[in-house]
Amino acid sequence: MAIVELRLIGTTDLHAHVAPYDYYRDGPDPSRGLAKAATLIAQARGEAANALVFDNGDLIQGSPLGDWAAQALGARRIGRHPMIEAMNAVGYDAATVGNHEFNYGLDLLDAALKGATFPFLCCNVFKADGASYFTPWTLIRRRVFDSDGVARDLSIGVIGVVTPQIVRWDMSHLAGRATTLGIVEAARVHVPACRAAGADLIVALCHAGVSKTGPSGADENAGLALAGVGGIDAIFVGHQHLLLPGDDFAGVPDVDAARGALSGVPAVMAGFWGGHIGVIDLTLETPGWRVAGAKASLRKVEPETPADPAVLAATQSSHEATLTYVRAPVGAIDERLTSYFAMIGDDACVRIVHDAQLWYARRLPLPDLPLLSASAPFKCGGRGGLTNYTQTPQGAVALRHIADLYVFPNGLRVVKASGAQIREWLERSASVFRRLDPDVTAPQPLLGPNFAAYDFDSLAGVTYRLDLTQPARYDDQGVVIAADARRVVDLAFEGRPIDEAASFLVVTNSYRASGGGHFPGCDGSSIVYEAPDSNFDALLQYVKSRPRVAVSPGGGWRFARWPAAVTATLLAPPRAAEVAPPPEVAVAPLGPGPNGFLLFRVTPK
Ligand code: MG
Ligand code: MN
Repeated sequence: MAIVELRLIGTTDLHAHVAPYDYYRDGPDPSRGLAKAATLIAQARGEAANALVFDNGDLIQGSPLGDWAAQALGARRIGRHPMIEAMNAVGYDAATVGNHEFNYGLDLLDAALKGATFPFLCCNVFKADGASYFTPWTLIRRRVFDSDGVARDLSIGVIGVVTPQIVRWDMSHLAGRATTLGIVEAARVHVPACRAAGADLIVALCHAGVSKTGPSGADENAGLALAGVGGIDAIFVGHQHLLLPGDDFAGVPDVDAARGALSGVPAVMAGFWGGHIGVIDLTLETPGWRVAGAKASLRKVEPETPADPAVLAATQSSHEATLTYVRAPVGAIDERLTSYFAMIGDDACVRIVHDAQLWYARRLPLPDLPLLSASAPFKCGGRGGLTNYTQTPQGAVALRHIADLYVFPNGLRVVKASGAQIREWLERSASVFRRLDPDVTAPQPLLGPNFAAYDFDSLAGVTYRLDLTQPARYDDQGVVIAADARRVVDLAFEGRPIDEAASFLVVTNSYRASGGGHFPGCDGSSIVYEAPDSNFDALLQYVKSRPRVAVSPGGGWRFARWPAAVTATLLAPPRAAEVAPPPEVAVAPLGPGPNGFLLFRVTPK
C-alpha cells in the first residue's frame, strides 16, 4: 500500500477585497485582502507536492472595489472583473458562488465570472427552463506521485452549493429567471453522479455555514447536513464569516471544532476578506484512494505578511479607479457620525438613513398611509473587529463616507404592515440583545460575540422602549421562542398607543422585505413598491440634494431602565470614549476588553 498526500487550500467570503486597503477609511489595512492571502496560498502550495486552490464564494460584492467594478463592468468600461484578474493571477483551480454574487443581478454576474481560468461550480441554482445555471461539478485530473515514487492519475471531484435563500434575498433579480434547490437535496443527486463519472474523491465547496442548532436540509447553514450526505471527503464552508477549526464552533454537536470536521468529514471555514486561508491535508492510500488521514487548519494573514506583487499588479488600475471613485466629494453633513454606540440608542448614523429613506419615499406614488422607515447599524464592531465602525467627518463628505453609512447594495423597498406587525418587527429586532438578569450584579454583556448588527432595525416614525430584562421573543430564525415575552413597551404613533389594526407603510430594503433575517410579515408578499434605486443611492441623492445635511433629532427609541444594580456592558474601541453616546443613554469605561476593545458600562437615562 502506497500513500499520496493531497493538500486542499481555500479562501472564502473575500467580498471584493484584494489590496490590503480600507476604502471607507481611505487608508491601508494590513489584516485583509486576497493579495496578502495569496502569499500564504503560495507558501502552502510550495510546501506540498500536490495542491489545489479553491474559493468558496461571496466574491464580487462587499467593498467599494466591488461596487466600482459592478458599475464599470455594467457600462463596459472594463472587460474583466478585478476579482477574476486577481484569482487568475493566484491560479485557482475551482470556485463556487456565494449569495452576494447575485446582488447586482444575473447579467452582471454572468459578465463578472467571464474570463476566469478556472470553473465556477454550483449544483443547486437553475435557469427558468430548469437547466443548471452553473456547471454543477467538475473533475480535476492530476498526475501525482505516491510514496513509492510511482506516478498515479487522480481524479478529484469538486462540487459547489450555495444558500438556496438567494431566491428570497435577491427576489427582484431572480424572480422568473432562477430557482434553487436545497443544498442537501442537490448534493444527494450530484455527489453520486460525480462519483459515477470517475471521481476518486470529492471536495465540496459549500457557500453556507454550520447551523449551531443541528442539521436540517432546508437550513441556510446546511454544512453539517451536507457532511451527512455521504461520499464527500472534504468540505469548505463559509458564509458565516467564522473560523473552523476554532472556538467559534465549540460545543456544537457533530462538529469537531478543535480538529475541523463536520460529522467526521474534514472541514475548514476561513473567516472573511482574505484574513485567513484554510488548509485540508488528506492522506490517501493507493490503490483505492481511501482517505487514511486528514488534518484541517487555518493560516492567518499577519500585519507583516507581504502582499503578492503579481496579484497587486493585476488589480492596480482597478484599485486606483476605486480610490478616485470613493474620494469624489458629494456634500456636507452638519455633525460627525460614528457608529460606536449605534446599538444602544437612536443613533445619528442610522437616523440619517431614515431621513433619506423617508425623503425618497415621500416622492413616490404610494397609498395614503402613515410612512415609517426601518434601518439598522451595519458596521458595529463584533466579529468585524476594532475597525468595523462607520466614521464620517463633520462638514464636507466624499462618496466613501456615504458608502460607509450604507455598505450593502440593497434595493429600496416599501412594505405594508399593520400596527401589530410593526410591534412584531421590533420584537424580532430587539431579539439581537441578550437578556439582562435583574438579580445578577456581575457585568452582563448586552450582545453576544457574533451579534448581527444588520438585523437590529430601528423604526423611525414611531416611539418605543426596549425592556431587556424580558426574554427575547424571537430567535435569529424568526421563530417565536418565548410566546409571553415582550421587550417592546410603550409603542406609540403620533404620541398615542399604536392601533394594532391600523395600516402603515415601512421604507426598508430588499433584503429585509423579501425575508432576510426572518422578520415577521416580511416574506416578499407585503412589498408595495420596488424602487429602481438602492438604499445607498437614496442616501447619496439625499446628501447631494442640499448644501448641508442636518440629521433629524433622535429620541425615537430607548432602553427601558433596568435596576441600578445591573451592570450592562458593551464593547467599543478605546477611541469611542471621546464620543458622546445618544442622549438617552450614559456610558462609562470599565476597563480593557478582548481584542483591543474597551468595555463600557451602559446605563439608560
Ligand atoms: Mg454569504
Ligand atoms: Mn459573506
